[in-house]
Amino acid sequence: ESALNPKYTFDNFIVGNNNNLAQAASLAVAETPAHKYNPLFIYGGSGLGKTHLIQAIGNFYLTNNPGKRVLYTTSEKFTYELVNAIREKTNQDFRNKHRTVDLLLMDDVQFLATKELAQEEFFHTFNALYEAGKQIVLTSDRLPSETPHLADRLKTRFQMGLLADIQPPDYETRLAILKSKIEDEYFTFDEEIVEYVANNITSNVRDLEGALKRILAYAGIERTNTISMELAQKALKEILSTLPQRNITISVIIDEVEKYYRLPKGSLITKKRSNDIAYPRHIAMYISRVILDESYASIGDAFKRDHSTVMNAVKKIKKMVTEDTELQEIINELVTNIKKD
Ligand code: ADP
Ligand code: MG
Repeated sequence: ESALNPKYTFDNFIVGNNNNLAQAASLAVAETPAHKYNPLFIYGGSGLGKTHLIQAIGNFYLTNNPGKRVLYTTSEKFTYELVNAIREKTNQDFRNKHRTVDLLLMDDVQFLATKELAQEEFFHTFNALYEAGKQIVLTSDRLPSETPHLADRLKTRFQMGLLADIQPPDYETRLAILKSKIEDEYFTFDEEIVEYVANNITSNVRDLEGALKRILAYAGIERTNTISMELAQKALKEILSTLPQRNITISVIIDEVEKYYRLPKGSLITKKRSNDIAYPRHIAMYISRVILDESYASIGDAFKRDHSTVMNAVKKIKKMVTEDTELQEIINELVTNIKKD
């Protein structure tokens, strides 16, 4: 009756800078409901883990409190059931169902905003539970204050506890998520391929999972358990081409790196070897290699260097990236700029 999916747990939720507040607050609420944050309001874009977290709260709480009543619902289901209850004159059942639980998990509350009757009913549901000392958790794709048509009295209530955002995962978190999902499969992925996916799929976790599924499906077609870079690229080709992307060339990459480091246009292809130029140049070479998968020779041509210089630069940055989270952030931001129109 709780309608929870057991696959959503805290154990398999990867924590990064983008979601650590929401994750910590969720765990606190699951451990000690109605104590610290009531309601807990989790907000963020699509595919970033809101449903995962809100259901993890329910699963965790039920495991530790087997006799308690947890209700997971969505604002759409709430509305639909309310309309049915009115038509079938079962309002009392509807109320009992929603107002007698120990933990109410309401996913995607933004859809309540256009439905006046449902807002009215939910206002009373909220108050009944809150006054009885029961925990309420809500998710939305935006802040209460930024939700048009949401009644002021609901806005006020939704803001009484903690507002916790989830941001898109940064490069490091995307790598960690991919690695954790790959671990569940009987496949071998080279580090280079995981990096390729993390560099190219930057939108959200659902898309990361989708990319992985496509790669595994292609491996299935080709009857192999070893994923080559070629196979990964083939698998992601269509997905990547449907993303809004400009035509990325080495010169676009050079432009963006120069802009980021506030260097005069053309600096990176000069002969200058001072570190303030050489370091950005090496980063631009690395990004050219990772995003475009160009040969060392053709990257060399663009920078007026030979292929072994490029190879050493790429190797050097690649090693630094694994050890330096600040550099990861910088490259992440650069890649985002490069892909933006
Ligand atoms: P939302 O509800 O915000 O649209 P979901 O919770 O449905 O997003 O997440 C989309 C998919 O990504 C789900 O399969 C979920 O398990 C997975 N996911 C999201 N965030 C994480 C994370 N931090 N760690 C592991 N898996 C995640
Ligand atoms: Mg969701």
